[in-house]
Amino acid sequence: MLAALLVAALCPQDLVLANATVWTGTDAAWSGPIVVTGGRIAAPGTTAPAGAVTRDLGGAFVMPGLQDAHGHLLGLGTALEEVDLVGARSFAEVVARVVAASKRSKKGEWIVGRGWDQNRWSDPAMPEHAELSRAVPDHPVWLVRVDGHAAIGNAAAMTAAKLQKDVVAPSGGEILRDGRGEPTGVFVDLAMALVTPAIPDPPPEVTKRRLQRAAMECLRHGLTCVHDAGVSPEAVAAMRSLDDVGEWRLRSYLMWSARHTDRIAAGPWQSADGLLQLRAVKGYADGALGSYGALLLEPYADKPSSRGLPMTAGLGDLAQLCADHGMQLCVHAIGDAANRAVLDAYAATRFEKGREAARFRIEHCQVIHPADFARFEELHVVPSMQPTHLTSDMPWAPARLGSKRVVGAYAWKSFHALGLPVAFGSDFPVEGVDPRLGIYAAVTTRARPGTSPLRPDQQLSRERALRGFTSDAAFAMFAENELGVIAKGMRADLTVFDRDLRTCPEDELLTARVLLTIVDGRIAYAAD
Ligand SMILES: [Zn+2]
Repeated sequence: MLAALLVAALCPQDLVLANATVWTGTDAAWSGPIVVTGGRIAAPGTTAPAGAVTRDLGGAFVMPGLQDAHGHLLGLGTALEEVDLVGARSFAEVVARVVAASKRSKKGEWIVGRGWDQNRWSDPAMPEHAELSRAVPDHPVWLVRVDGHAAIGNAAAMTAAKLQKDVVAPSGGEILRDGRGEPTGVFVDLAMALVTPAIPDPPPEVTKRRLQRAAMECLRHGLTCVHDAGVSPEAVAAMRSLDDVGEWRLRSYLMWSARHTDRIAAGPWQSADGLLQLRAVKGYADGALGSYGALLLEPYADKPSSRGLPMTAGLGDLAQLCADHGMQLCVHAIGDAANRAVLDAYAATRFEKGREAARFRIEHCQVIHPADFARFEELHVVPSMQPTHLTSDMPWAPARLGSKRVVGAYAWKSFHALGLPVAFGSDFPVEGVDPRLGIYAAVTTRARPGTSPLRPDQQLSRERALRGFTSDAAFAMFAENELGVIAKGMRADLTVFDRDLRTCPEDELLTARVLLTIVDGRIAYAAD
């Protein structure tokens, strides 16, 4: 299939989509075929240019290209090659999956896994390394929690990282210890950096392969564009070299990781074909709720000794650096205190061309103090949220937050009520890359069909949910005049489903099939 996809991608051609059921992404209707010429959508009623390829869609549903406003491409590509721990129902099952992987790799080679979630186990306590170290003694093992904010290493990993018994966690991180004061193997947030540097960097060919796998995975799921929330110079170099030879087909809006200050100071950049755009920066204000890393104004309801881990130092300087160089800052903030700290930092930032033009973002916006919603509007901050975080977290989030604070959690409708766009994404590989999951979550606030809704007051209409993954996401990347709606002159980024997502039965939002993914007028994915 890979070969077929590449052949399609390398043959740009004028295109006619006939017999389509079109949702323009706005209130405007569309009649007749969609004619794509030079990568853009022609006015309705335009005669197809000679040589255009016509696709009869047989009534299939064409919508503006789906975007994921917050994902991690290299993380996804790496996860596709790592031990998948998603869905493991106990730590014993985690260990068994690692044992199976160890049999396929040489002694001494690192085994990295991702996706465990102790909240899904009958014993939801954080795991300890002894069982893992006994079962896999000959490989350093590093298993990242589903949210990426904690990891467990085995004894060999801690030895490889040269950890001393009395090692102290850096601020913004935590080393979990047992009753005797020994590390349990679990490292939270910034303490993970005590072990991760020991993992050897992949060579450039591996980085390229992983990125390409990730892009294919996105295109296959109907995504035409991804906002990558934190890229390294190595990842950008790999994407550029793929794009230079026409092998990068996914529109990608990239955020530098905040530590690359020299790159940030170089200002925005985009590739000749416009498919790669570097105009944003990813910062952090706290950790995640699942590992008690989210920074809260009041202590955790189920851990009164903790308000979470602040990672807010330097935010003001970062915001000013971005503002001074025309870069959009996108800061991860989960807890209400973290969101407030980011709003405060943005409020103190000086913008030469006005803060409205800068469109600074907050990523996740998971728990907002009721007094702070209006500040997003005042400060022209774009919320970027992930509907599947609601359905993944809600079974245990009320315990962490307590019933009062839950009101401000996962509250995209409260932003809509202020007239704000809310860019939707998934945070893959933390959540699944499939945008149908996010659309379903935003519409139903249900984890699965047949279960009860978790936040019925936050349920969105179909079109409002779809706009989060199209026009609102386009706004969040300054592309509302190019992407996100079907209209004359817009870039031809389109997603085609086998049924109308506006009107199909609710459960079918999860089973609707992607038929075509079109990026810049080229068919980048076609179902068999
Ligand atoms: Zn993320």
